[in-house]
Amino acid sequence: MLRHIFHHRGAAEGCAQFCCTKIEDFGVSFGTFEVFSHVNLHFHCGELTAIIGPNGAGKSTLLRAILGEVGHTGRLRFVDADDRHTGHPIIGYVPQYLRLDVSAPTTVQDLFMACISARPVWLFPARRYRDRILENLARVCADHLIDRRLGALSGGELQRVLLALALDPMPNLLLLDEPVSGVDQNGLALFYDIVGQLRAKEDLTILLISHDLGMVARHADKVVLMEHGIAASGSVMEVFTDPQMERLFGILPDVRHLQTNDREGGEPAWS
Ligand code: ADP
Ligand code: MG
Repeated sequence: MLRHIFHHRGAAEGCAQFCCTKIEDFGVSFGTFEVFSHVNLHFHCGELTAIIGPNGAGKSTLLRAILGEVGHTGRLRFVDADDRHTGHPIIGYVPQYLRLDVSAPTTVQDLFMACISARPVWLFPARRYRDRILENLARVCADHLIDRRLGALSGGELQRVLLALALDPMPNLLLLDEPVSGVDQNGLALFYDIVGQLRAKEDLTILLISHDLGMVARHADKVVLMEHGIAASGSVMEVFTDPQMERLFGILPDVRHLQTNDREGGEPAWS
């Protein structure tokens, strides 16, 4: 079911008291291969946490475990200010990959309509839904793409369309798995601007897997560095100066360049 890709709705929908997601002693294994274990993290409402780490570190698996798509050990709790469990919030999810048949005639509007209802696309009175779809797309600067074929979208455009899908209904927890390739720097900057505005406007908890340390420095409130577990976590400054960071990323010349640049543009995330 397509809708399932972008939303996971729990029993306590729209739980107003939800303020914190707690991951306690989390672990995931595939057969005898342990992806990570003993992961303990807290994510607060209104905060953007960037998850970084090398390929294969377990970043996507962590998001999929939070979604309940892969089995895990340990506990996941959505709690209010008094540490009381609030049930399950609405979770929006933008996956890292979407397998698309680029030659298919499916448009952005078709995709939305398939997600809005389980009924076959051709049974829809399209006009009834068009305004709602346009409104959703406008939120991510993509309303001009409504009649575009999915296969004709750039990586950045597709990413924004998937984000728009994940935002209807507005989730409590937004999980974003950034594509490793196919999104150019302008597209990435626009995506981060939109996500930053959302965090400010809605009281969203955002977990974002990112491959761009410059964007992380500019936009994240907290950073989690993963390598089959938590290698480091804290403020951008704390994690970026951690010896683990140097070990995992330090030899990359463009990272050194970003680390000097990210103090120049805009408000630093750790101020
Ligand atoms: P990342 O997103 O950090 O690049 P992943 O979470 O996708 O890493 O994968 C972490 C490790 O788990 C990798 O070694 C990957 O091959 C393995 N893995 C992921 N999904 C599965 C699966 N469904 N079955 C077996 N191994 C998997
Ligand atoms: Mg991944």
